[in-house]
Amino acid sequence: MIQITIPLNMLGMVYREIRQSLIDMAEMFALLDQPPEVSDRPGAPPLRVRDGHVRFESVEFGYDPVRPILKGISFEVPPGHTVALVGASGAGKSTIGRLLFRFYDVSAGSVSIDGQDLRDVTQASLHDAIGIVPQDTVLFNDTLYYNIAYGREDATRADVEDAARAARLHDFIASLPDGYDTQVGERGLKLSGGEKQRVGIARTLLKNPPIVLLDEATSALDTQTERDIQDSLRAMSAGRTVITIAHRLSTVVDADTILVMEDGRVIERGSHDALLARDGQYARLWTRQAREAA
Ligand code: ATP
Repeated sequence: MIQITIPLNMLGMVYREIRQSLIDMAEMFALLDQPPEVSDRPGAPPLRVRDGHVRFESVEFGYDPVRPILKGISFEVPPGHTVALVGASGAGKSTIGRLLFRFYDVSAGSVSIDGQDLRDVTQASLHDAIGIVPQDTVLFNDTLYYNIAYGREDATRADVEDAARAARLHDFIASLPDGYDTQVGERGLKLSGGEKQRVGIARTLLKNPPIVLLDEATSALDTQTERDIQDSLRAMSAGRTVITIAHRLSTVVDADTILVMEDGRVIERGSHDALLARDGQYARLWTRQAREAA
C-alpha cells in the first residue's frame, strides 16, 4: 500500500509543478502570444546596440495574409525616449510589441534598431537587448529574492536590493517577517497586481537592457499604488528607450510621444498637451477616462 501511495503522492507533486510551469509559460507568452515563427538567417551577426534607436518604417503585417492588421506603421523612438501606444482593443498595439521582439516578420517595410534590420541579426542578441515588463508578471513558486534575481543570474544581494529599491518594492519587502526570503506564488504570499508589476520592473532594472517594452497592467490601481508604479517606471525609463502599451492615461502623460492607433494605423501623434490641444480622438479618450476615474 505504502509503495503505491508514495509514488501517487509524488505524481501529484510532479503534476502540480508541471501545471504551474504551464501556467507560467501561458502568462509569459500572453504578450508574445505564440512561439517564434522566424529563425536566424545563416551567419547572422548579433545586434550591436549603440544607443537604442528604434524605427518602424512603413510596416505592414497580418497574422493571416488575407487579414492585414498593421497597415503602414511608421514611427521612431529616439534613444532614451518613451513612446506610448494607445487605442481601442484590437487596434494593433501588442502586435507592434511582438514585431519588435521579432516573433514574426513584417510583410512589408522594416523594423530596425540602431540601423540594423531585425531580420539581419540573431534573435538571441535581440532578446538580450529588450526587457519586457508584461501585464501580469509571472511569479515563480520561490522566494521574493529569487523572483527578482531571476532578471540576472550573476546579480549580487546588493544588486537585487538596489533594483527593489528603485522599483519602490524594498520597503514593502522589508516589512514582511521573512523579508526577501518570503515565499510567493501559488503556495506562498499572494502579491497584488501593483506589487507583481513592480517585481517585473525590478527584474528588468536588474537585467539592465537598453530597450524596454512595457505592457501596462489594465487593472485600476489606488492612488498610492499608482504613484509607486509611476515612480518605479520613471526609474526604469531613465536613459532607456521605452515603448509602452498604455492602458492608463497617467503613464501616457509622461511619454515623449503618444501614438493613437485605430484599426492598424496611427491616426494621431504628439505629446499629451499637443494632442489635447488638437481636440481629436486622443482628447476624446482622455475625457472619457478622466470621467470614468472620477
Ligand atoms: P488590446 O488592447 O486588446 O490588447 P491590441 O491593440 O494590443 O489590443 P492586438 O493584440 O495587436 O491589439 O491585435 C490586433 C488584431 O490582431 C486583433 O484583431 C486580433 O484579433 C488579431 N490578433 C492578435 N493576435 C493574433 C494571433 N496570434 N493570430 C491571429 N490574429 C491575432
